[in-house]
Amino acid sequence: MNNQDYLKAVEKLNLYSHHYYVLDDPITTDEVYDKLYHEVVEYEEINPSEMLKNSPTQRVGDVVSDGFTKAPHLSRMWSLEDIFDSDGLEKWLTKTYKLDSNISFYCEPKFDGASLNLVYENGELIQGITRGDGEIGELITQNVKTIKSIPLTIAHQERIEIRGEVVIFKDEFDKINELRLKEGEQVFANPRNAAAGSLRQLDSSITASRNLVFLPYGVGEDTLEHKLLSDKMNFIYELGFRKPPQSSTCKNFDEIEDIYKVMNRDRDSYSMMLDGMVIKVNEISSQVDMGYTVKVPRFSVAYKFPAVEKITTVREIILQVGRTGAVTPVAIVEPTDIDGVVVERATLHNFDEIDRKDIRLNDKVIILRSGDVIPKIIKVLTHERDGSEVEYKRPTECPTCRSELLDEGVLLKCQNLTCESRVVNSIYYFASKSCLNIDGLGTKIVEALFTSGLVKSVVDLFDLTLDKLLALEGFKEKKSQNLLDSLQNAKGSDYWRFLNSLGIEHVGEVASKTLSDNFGSNFINATKEEIVECEGIGEEMAESVLEFVRVNRETILDLQAILEPKEPEQKEEAVENPFKGKTAVLTGTMSESRGAIKDMLESLGAKVSGSVSKKTDFLIYGEDAGSKYDKAMSLGVECLTENEMRKII
Ligand code: NAD
Repeated sequence: MNNQDYLKAVEKLNLYSHHYYVLDDPITTDEVYDKLYHEVVEYEEINPSEMLKNSPTQRVGDVVSDGFTKAPHLSRMWSLEDIFDSDGLEKWLTKTYKLDSNISFYCEPKFDGASLNLVYENGELIQGITRGDGEIGELITQNVKTIKSIPLTIAHQERIEIRGEVVIFKDEFDKINELRLKEGEQVFANPRNAAAGSLRQLDSSITASRNLVFLPYGVGEDTLEHKLLSDKMNFIYELGFRKPPQSSTCKNFDEIEDIYKVMNRDRDSYSMMLDGMVIKVNEISSQVDMGYTVKVPRFSVAYKFPAVEKITTVREIILQVGRTGAVTPVAIVEPTDIDGVVVERATLHNFDEIDRKDIRLNDKVIILRSGDVIPKIIKVLTHERDGSEVEYKRPTECPTCRSELLDEGVLLKCQNLTCESRVVNSIYYFASKSCLNIDGLGTKIVEALFTSGLVKSVVDLFDLTLDKLLALEGFKEKKSQNLLDSLQNAKGSDYWRFLNSLGIEHVGEVASKTLSDNFGSNFINATKEEIVECEGIGEEMAESVLEFVRVNRETILDLQAILEPKEPEQKEEAVENPFKGKTAVLTGTMSESRGAIKDMLESLGAKVSGSVSKKTDFLIYGEDAGSKYDKAMSLGVECLTENEMRKII
């Protein structure tokens, strides 16, 4: 890097930061930012006299926006130094041990959200301030008071600053983006931006509606006398703050590495996004002696997780036709390694998404791959366009059978019932795990059976014989016999599996179980009124069932005669109790899994539903109950804590 490159890099980093911190709308990945940042750090180390005053290495990134009143922090807020691998950890430890060799460590997740400083005086929350430039932040007390995990009063009278991260849980983030999509608004790129954006709202009712969660990670000004950070944090949790899902003390490199590996392995199982692990010296006196650089504490470091977001290029948009005829676009991208997996495709959900995000061929995009979720495009880097991008044209004909597509706006549909993609996918679905669970019917085999002409619908599967299969290319005796055995084994399956395998539009596993429990094979005679009476089944689903039965009654009866599915058992009548025959909804974190509590209530004769409506009799809530609690209160539904429920039982 020469001086010209250095000047450009600082300018670029400041632009990235403006989009990230001020607009809550990043235009690059953290990985790209971090790489350039470290190049700048290296240049400044070698050429200290050329360092620019506005270099991002010299200040805490957030900027204070004009919309809010500004407020100073009682003691400064800091950023964190980053490390990315064991080498980095070793170097950081060597540097830290030089300052004090007699230390241990406190490790906890690095939450990916927005920093917040809370000031309590005489046990009362008096201010909530964003990190801002570290010295002065935005005063957002009204917004902060809407966050349920922030106590308005605490049992500690002396003045104290409690610092933490405001996050949005991943499921809540998905809900917010779904809603924004429906309302034609720009979606948030990730939960961090959603949390930061929701916190800095001029209208606190918007903040309140976002179900933000505060996770404390430290204190600023305080009069506490704990010798260890771990004890101090326990004291903070006891004041009524939420404890992070994981925190540990440890002594050395190996122990830190072990904790890091487990946390990285489990990162997707946490409700909130983590982008690393923070390591802090546990002894408070050593922390004080080590002090700070201009930007970060010397006693702490962020050990980042491998990036889940990467920049790549859209090469092609291909179309997939599902069993219902819905055509889904999929982006084929320049192969990119994300945390050890080469990603070549990203889901695009529907054609609206392509229009809304204005995704063009050759566009540079940010893709996200986390957990088992299919990679998705979270952002188009429009500022990187060079004119070679080509707008995408909505298709008008089915890519498989070439028949004209029905354009329903968001969705495009192939209406040809005999289209190969539709038939193959419906047979594949019929045999899938949540349906009849028939081994040996992967897409390749189903395609071979279809093109051979042997199987044109699911009913044909049961006319297959060994001779017919052996006549096909690639079908040896063992494979063919196994397939025939699996088909045979599907006979006598539970009725809900049979019902689910029919592939009725809008009816998934849960609804199939409900319909099966309520009607068994008599579902084909149920009226709309009877169907909507069932918990969790609305008008749209009921109409879909009726329409399916109207068109396919004969096929259903034929299949039923072949498969002889087992009718559901009549449940034993529950003893009299206040929950019998009532509908309950569960929300929040409980002392045991919600599944276990659901089973217990069902054994008492209650129905447990997923959403609150006027039909709900009880809402049973645990810690951090969110929007369901608010809805139940507004509908006047009786709300019980888990303990109150147990007392009643
Ligand atoms: P940071 O977010 O990397 O680390 C410091 C912050 O971590 C603290 O202020 C605190 O809010 C938070 N934190 C979460 N859990 C914590 C815990 N357990 N203990 C202590 N702190 C905890 O620092 P930063 O200076 O805000 O941001 C720099 C990072 O932001 C960069 O590494 C980069 O990845 C990202 N960034 C990205 C872009 C972009 O365009 N993508 C732009 C600017 C910055």
